[in-house]
Amino acid sequence: MSKSFMPLLVYDQPLTEVSVIRQEVGALALVSGWRTSLALSFDYVLMLVTLAAFHLHPSFWLWLPSALIVGSRQHALAVMMHEAAHGNLCRSRRLNDWLGQYLCASPLIIASLRHYRARHRLHHTKLNSVQDPDWYLKATDSEWRYPTSNIDLLLRLARVAAGGGVAYLVRAQLLTKSKRKSGVHFPAGMVTYLSLACVLITALHAWTTIALLWLVPLVTIMPLCERVRSVAEHFGLKHTCDLNATRSVRASWFSLFFFAPHHVNYHLEHHLYPMVPFYNLPRLALLLDGVPEYKKSAHRTDGYVFSRGGRSLWRDLTRLPGA
Ligand SMILES: [Zn+2]
Repeated sequence: MSKSFMPLLVYDQPLTEVSVIRQEVGALALVSGWRTSLALSFDYVLMLVTLAAFHLHPSFWLWLPSALIVGSRQHALAVMMHEAAHGNLCRSRRLNDWLGQYLCASPLIIASLRHYRARHRLHHTKLNSVQDPDWYLKATDSEWRYPTSNIDLLLRLARVAAGGGVAYLVRAQLLTKSKRKSGVHFPAGMVTYLSLACVLITALHAWTTIALLWLVPLVTIMPLCERVRSVAEHFGLKHTCDLNATRSVRASWFSLFFFAPHHVNYHLEHHLYPMVPFYNLPRLALLLDGVPEYKKSAHRTDGYVFSRGGRSLWRDLTRLPGA
């Protein structure tokens, strides 16, 4: 079946010039298994080395940087699960779904890639409307209303880092499940995965390490990284056309390591062409830079907190659009 490489647009205004580059987009949409392997290997090696170092030499001073590293990589796995939902991990759909479930979703105790995919598809096709499950969930929660004051934004982030962000992530999963006809779904594969994980942790006498360096980051650091990314993607924007309903962020490698691993900061480009895998998004952004319509209207933000001349995300979230 031939793929369409036209941009996925959900607002009324047609973006004619953006459609012109479809042939080049076709080349960028080619999926490469080894690029995916490299990215997943980087995340896993970093996590396993960090966990092993803490297990062998536990101390508070080692725990703090280790928790930041592990939490950032848990967030990276969530981003790779998102790639799997788009079928962008590898060419074989079966292998793509297996990797997305057992190497990305299951370690984060997310039961079903399939259900996440169904929810995420609506997010793309009904973007920022009541039919978009992500938007609907957030629009009914005052925590997600922007702009807000500097102090309130700080307090919101502090609440997420203290464990409050987990409530939203659990609600998102339960909302998906509550719409299923068969009720709560916990696949047999997930039960097997968790059972094997428990046996392995017991055999390695690693329950303390897993509690301090997997579960604690999973409810603190990971939700904080996820919250900054989610807010950056669709909040504090004008929402008048496709090019200003999603944000792309340019930032330092340090910020990207925590808030936008695997090029997920190119979120506007991803929404226009979701079939392009993560490693080709920077090239897609360069291509789009040559399109006058995109260059004029695309919402691109420079930096998360501080900016090198443009407008940072923090400023976007604490000022009215256009102010
Ligand atoms: Zn997506």
